[in-house]
Amino acid sequence: MIQEARIVAGFTGAGISTESGIPDFRSPNSPWLRNKPIAYELFLRSAKARREAWRRKFAMDDLYRGARPSTGHRALAALVASGRMPAVITQNIDGLHQESGLGDDQVIELHGNGTYAKCLSCGRRHELDWVRYHFDRNGEPPECMACGGILKSATISFGQAMPEEPMRRAQKLSAACDLFLVAGSSLVVYPAAAFPAFAKENGARLVIVNREPTPLDDVADLVVHAEIGEVFSEFPT
Ligand SMILES: [Zn+2]
Repeated sequence: MIQEARIVAGFTGAGISTESGIPDFRSPNSPWLRNKPIAYELFLRSAKARREAWRRKFAMDDLYRGARPSTGHRALAALVASGRMPAVITQNIDGLHQESGLGDDQVIELHGNGTYAKCLSCGRRHELDWVRYHFDRNGEPPECMACGGILKSATISFGQAMPEEPMRRAQKLSAACDLFLVAGSSLVVYPAAAFPAFAKENGARLVIVNREPTPLDDVADLVVHAEIGEVFSEFPT
């Protein structure tokens, strides 16, 4: 199917990064389940919530600092390099697609990126090392260097609006592709999960590689319930 396709859209979720050692949000023993997520509205309103959000963020970063791209990340990077896949749409925030060699224009991040911080007022990017340096010294996250605004990890939190430009790019790629390849997503988180359904309705073939069944298995052209690394290690590119 890849060889027959003109434009392949890649789509990834937590499953591709579990093989890099980053646990899935929903897997048992997930550190994500220990704490109730801090809603965006609370983050904006409460300095205490912001301190707690940053404390968790840095604790999590320490746990997964050594994570490197998996076989799946590398296989998708090779597909992009071959010219057949314009970009990978991802639900992940770990930056591992970029680390596997993709440029920012080749990754469409629906839920943002946890490897840097952004000012909520002016949008200026700040590096995490700098934020952490101030946080460790003062017990408070620093303000935006440019405007004094609130800094937040550049991810999309519960209650925060989906980012417009990535949503538009994902929509465009889903409409243009003739093969939509899902790798490691259970396709239950919306609106992200709407893209494969939309591509299929638009006449693209749909392939799903995921360890567990997904709600779109019935309409897919091919479903493989297996580890990503196992499937993608013999990936034609
Ligand atoms: Zn700012």
